[in-house]
Amino acid sequence: MKQKIKTAIDCGRCRDKKYVFSNKKGKVQAEPCTCFQCKFCEGSRRIFDETPEGLSKIKECECSELFKRMSLFNQAGVPGKFVHEDFSSYLVDPPQHRTQKNALLNSKKFIKDYVDRKGQYSQGLIYMGAPGLGKTHIVVSIIKELVMQYGVECKFVDFFELLRDIRHGYGEDISEKDFIDPYVGVKVLVIDELAKGRNTDWEITILDHFISTRYNDDDKVTLVTTNFSDKVENCLTPPSGRNDKQGLSNAYARFSLEEKIGARIHSRLMEMCKKINLEGTDYRR
Ligand SMILES: [Zn+2]
Ligand SMILES: [Zn+2]
Repeated sequence: MKQKIKTAIDCGRCRDKKYVFSNKKGKVQAEPCTCFQCKFCEGSRRIFDETPEGLSKIKECECSELFKRMSLFNQAGVPGKFVHEDFSSYLVDPPQHRTQKNALLNSKKFIKDYVDRKGQYSQGLIYMGAPGLGKTHIVVSIIKELVMQYGVECKFVDFFELLRDIRHGYGEDISEKDFIDPYVGVKVLVIDELAKGRNTDWEITILDHFISTRYNDDDKVTLVTTNFSDKVENCLTPPSGRNDKQGLSNAYARFSLEEKIGARIHSRLMEMCKKINLEGTDYRR
């Protein structure tokens, strides 16, 4: 008789990963699971080692790597509403569009390539498509895996929110640089909802600084999501016959990404990132 081989899980809470995610103050945070106990250091994260000369010295316990990864993750800025999202929960609701399956495959391949090349000369990804297709779900899944499984430094930035913080910072004498530097220098940067908003000259200047700096670094990778695509579809003409391009609702259907961010940033992005087009049905409807 055939028997299914089951791998027993000791801890149902973390599925033996030894850490859990929770939503704290609007950001996903990692913390040790209650099942976590290190038999070597009993929580001190240090153990005694002996040198060849017989001298006793203190060294880091191997469990400290888990704590480093959790601390790295807690600085990544992943929005709290994505606390439970990962690759395994993407595509669970049929119907799934083939472009969504393709996006999932490409995302997993990106992680493998990034790790194989140790972060050098990797090409990023730009996910393009209408809202509600799970673009942010996918990039959050990438961050979770890269940080917690491979210890890679990642950051998530909602560009629209960052611009708002910079504007507020002017009033409190906090410079643009203080806000921007942590993102510009990070190994893997996720820019969510690129081109959302008005994209004034000031906004474009900041975006240009982001993209140009990262463009010139071989060991930095950028992942982008945007509701805008390269082709302008459904380019509806309002009943008045006037070509109203000022309205912001459904703007993604009326403007191309290049129109929103300008030719220079657009062409650099296209060099830095492989395009992943998404189609399908908005899961929020
Ligand atoms: Zn556990
Ligand atoms: Zn330990």
